[in-house]
Amino acid sequence: MFRRADLDGFEVEAVSRNVARVSYATSLMKKGVLISTTEHILSAFMGTGIDNAIVELDNLELPILDGSAQPFVALIQKAGIRKQRRARNYLRIRRQLELREGDKFIAVYPGESYSVSYSINFPHPLIGKESFTLELENGNYLREVAPARTFGSREDERAMRNMGLIRGAAPENCIVLSKTGIENPPLRFEDEFVRHKILDLIGDLALLGRQILGKVVADRAGHAMHTALVSRLLRDRTLWEETTVEDGNTRATPIMACSPAPNPA
Ligand SMILES: [Zn+2]
Repeated sequence: MFRRADLDGFEVEAVSRNVARVSYATSLMKKGVLISTTEHILSAFMGTGIDNAIVELDNLELPILDGSAQPFVALIQKAGIRKQRRARNYLRIRRQLELREGDKFIAVYPGESYSVSYSINFPHPLIGKESFTLELENGNYLREVAPARTFGSREDERAMRNMGLIRGAAPENCIVLSKTGIENPPLRFEDEFVRHKILDLIGDLALLGRQILGKVVADRAGHAMHTALVSRLLRDRTLWEETTVEDGNTRATPIMACSPAPNPA
């Protein structure tokens, strides 16, 4: 749940029905109130196993910080995680759903755990084809995906600034691509680009409102296709069923061990 402290605490739920516009980032809107660029913080919640949280902000956009989910993860760990008594709800995929749009592809298949695979083919000498698969368990997200930063090229920068986008872009908050390499080395991973796409996808899939038990596969997709998968899934109740660890015969394990909640101040 996002809460706009500058608008009398107006609340916008992080759910599919509030998805507003989706291009370079995912934005939510309810009754004209905007929450922009939600994917990195929602990804951090999914990656740390958080189902319920209130995010208060005093503006319409989440801060970009270093361009990854790492600073959000650090803040979540600092705040502490409280284990709740109610069993966690999972959305268990029963039938596959595949969406295609030109050479873009996204799909979800039945599976006993939550895994995400991504492939990109980016016309840049440093990137080209990259693929990565993440099993969301045992802290994998924190090690392998959370630190991966967003990226952009100098060439696109001017056009995007003219559209009023990325006004805060700086070498401190993204990987800056030049024609042949990057302007602000080093990379945090050799394949940091595709890892960031996984980070984004996990953040967009959080708009399902439940963790997935299934395999998600994406190829050259983006926020629009990520959120299209979410709304198509939610619309068709024959594709999935709701389950909890207790009644489901799954090997679902906590994504991150719970730390004790801090004493209320
Ligand atoms: Zn991103």
